[in-house]
Amino acid sequence: MSTKQVSTTSSTPFSVSRISDVLKTVLQDCSVPPTLHQPLFDGNELKYVTECIETGWVSSVGAFVDRFEAMLSEFTGARRAVAVVNGTAALHLALKIAGVQHNDEVLVPALTFVATANAVSYCGAIPHFVDSSYSTLGLDPEKLERYLNETVTLTSEGSINRHTGRRIRAVVPMHTFGHPVDLDPLLEVCARYQLEMVEDAAESLGSYYKGRHTGRFGRVGVLSFNGNKVVTTGGGGCLLFEDEELGRLAKHLSTTARVSHRWEFFHDMIGFNYRMPNLNAALGCAQLENLPRFLERKRALADRYRMAFQEVTGVSFVDQADFGTSNWWLNAIILDSKYAGRRNELLDAMNRDGIVTRPVWTLMHRLPMYSGCPRMDLSVAEDLETRLINIPSSVSRKLA
Ligand SMILES: *Cc1c(COP(=O)(O)O)cnc(C)c1O
Repeated sequence: MSTKQVSTTSSTPFSVSRISDVLKTVLQDCSVPPTLHQPLFDGNELKYVTECIETGWVSSVGAFVDRFEAMLSEFTGARRAVAVVNGTAALHLALKIAGVQHNDEVLVPALTFVATANAVSYCGAIPHFVDSSYSTLGLDPEKLERYLNETVTLTSEGSINRHTGRRIRAVVPMHTFGHPVDLDPLLEVCARYQLEMVEDAAESLGSYYKGRHTGRFGRVGVLSFNGNKVVTTGGGGCLLFEDEELGRLAKHLSTTARVSHRWEFFHDMIGFNYRMPNLNAALGCAQLENLPRFLERKRALADRYRMAFQEVTGVSFVDQADFGTSNWWLNAIILDSKYAGRRNELLDAMNRDGIVTRPVWTLMHRLPMYSGCPRMDLSVAEDLETRLINIPSSVSRKLA
């Protein structure tokens, strides 16, 4: 990733309008709308949704759900995909299935969307915030390892936080903006400290780590199909499994844990009403048919941005690390440290110009409900927070 300072021969001064102009030119050339990320429905969406309505099966049973899950399984290579109402619900269920219990701690990046931490809270567990790496924007396995070494006592029960006495049960790497976390060293940390890994791959449908689809590295991983993601079902999410048995459990739990019977209502656990409605799955089937084309166009846009920002003083394009293949969900630029103070001026100017740009999420430990949670030194995430800017990233409207 080109967050390092690349010394260019250009001695042009830092210029807000220059950066704005570069963005405008790329967006125009690539036929990309100036919003952050909007969906594209130019395939079978209307046809499938109409078909769904005509059959009358619009709710949580129907053929499109099965088809959507089969398509997801085929695309990602996961043995089983279970579709649910949204990515947050998927995370909640995934953490439950991974064994997260009341009063456990779960390691979560401070730099993430709030859903990652919320899902931990829904389990009655406590998020424990960890730092990011400059090279991926995601969790830094080496820094985590050093931290756990100082913080944790390994017992027959697993890893115990010396300061809180609580069990640290799991870790949730999140593939920021679609860029894969360095998972191999993280898996080693998990093995050493007996942590379950639940990947928050909400942003990384179509992203690969060393050739394998993200979300397939722990026992369970999670995707989102919210309206701003690479493909959308309106609202939706799914869980990915390599183990059929766990997949069946997820389906059961997401269907109020109702035991199948012709007429009797019997539920054998506290389940959830988390199944994805057929109507949403119909939209999803049409979207997935176009996913390869979407990914191709998103890559082309990223390539254009990379080239365009090579020459611009004071900012760099955020690139992928060489072990990963990003889906380029949300492109980002990063200000050089000495221009961090100009971030708001830049955001103001671009948004006034009609180009939607956004700072990265406020870090989790700054949110009122999470300010008291345990955390490691978060200096990298705190630095990134001041310098990252997301730029328009929708699928190009131009025919590929
Ligand atoms: C989008 C997203 C989610 C949640 O997905 P929803 O479908 O919106 O509930 C979770 N984590 C991350 C990192 C996300 O970007």
